[in-house]
Amino acid sequence: MQLHDKNFIPYLSEADVLAAVQKVADAVAADYQNETPIFVGVLNGSFMFVADFLKAYPHPCEVSFVKMSSYQGLTSTGIVETLLDVSEDIEGKSVIILEDIVDTGRTLKELIHMFSDINIKEFKIATLFYKSEIYTGEYTIDYFGMKIPDKFIVGYGLDYKELGRNLRAVYQLNQPHMINLVLFGKPGAGKGTQAEFLKEKYNLKHISTGDLFRYNMSNDTELGKLAKSYIDRGDLVPDEVTIKMLQDDVEKNPDASGFIFDGFPRTTAQAEALDAFLSTKNMKINATIALEANDEVLIQRLLERGKVSGRTDDQDEDKIRNRFKEYNQKTAPLKDFYEAQGKFHSVNGIGAIDEITQRLAKVIEEL
Ligand code: AMP
Repeated sequence: MQLHDKNFIPYLSEADVLAAVQKVADAVAADYQNETPIFVGVLNGSFMFVADFLKAYPHPCEVSFVKMSSYQGLTSTGIVETLLDVSEDIEGKSVIILEDIVDTGRTLKELIHMFSDINIKEFKIATLFYKSEIYTGEYTIDYFGMKIPDKFIVGYGLDYKELGRNLRAVYQLNQPHMINLVLFGKPGAGKGTQAEFLKEKYNLKHISTGDLFRYNMSNDTELGKLAKSYIDRGDLVPDEVTIKMLQDDVEKNPDASGFIFDGFPRTTAQAEALDAFLSTKNMKINATIALEANDEVLIQRLLERGKVSGRTDDQDEDKIRNRFKEYNQKTAPLKDFYEAQGKFHSVNGIGAIDEITQRLAKVIEEL
């Protein structure tokens, strides 16, 4: 959906939003059974929330509004203006602020200041959406409907340059510059090393399934125990285990501006699962880049790495050869899979580390 110059994609359905409103109303109602509080909606964004909240609120109550403004376009300007004050007599009453969204907490600070010299009984904050990760205010948020990541959202009262307020559902800004890469190559090809540079250069999140497994093994988790026997032999861990782990890790990073998948996918089934999963998030793989090097060079690199890393799968030539065999049988066919999508790129993986980084950067910048 287009609003002005930006594209927005569905984020929360009307039912999700109303469930969050109900949650706030129930929590507030449980605390105010025996008194009549005054709810103060913060305009403009909260008008829908206030209306639905009041319909869901079962006890006697009063309502008023204040108007403040701090957003211009997509970013908070930091300047909060009070445009309209509460006119009702609120002395001695419990005041509950109804905010559509709390993000940095600047608007809230101004609001709290506004009430600071009035002699009210109690002051509470209820917000429908709460960007807890970026909230820097000192005031505790007493009630919230839903915590959300730091995405720009519109709909259900919230706007982008005044448009979108009338939408019943909530939409998020479609991140246009996301880059998702698959680093492809045999064990020892330098995927992990190069991923470290690329993630800095392009501000990407690096997901290495091998590292995730090793983390789980060293922490002796259920997943680690399960993976250990496969990894110790140089075999692949079963797809259903790996796919699930990968999805969990992507979901932990909803704000990433892109991912580098290193060591995943390693089978056609994993590649298909990755495409299907990414499409549910309105994401896709932009490029698969293979780091090419011959087996004898790789074996030497892995044996050297095994001496310092302590990785047992790098210390034994038979295990290494078994990993190559797994690669040739299961992973190499992925070249065709990505070539068919026009996404496969090959890079010479032999040379100085920074030379190889430059070769990779050239491919990425031409995307
Ligand atoms: P790596 O660090 O990428 O060389 O991975 C080390 C080991 O972890 C592999 O030899 C496999 O046993 C296991 N592993 C890592 N990624 C995957 C994957 N995508 N599918 C199955 N097994 C994997």
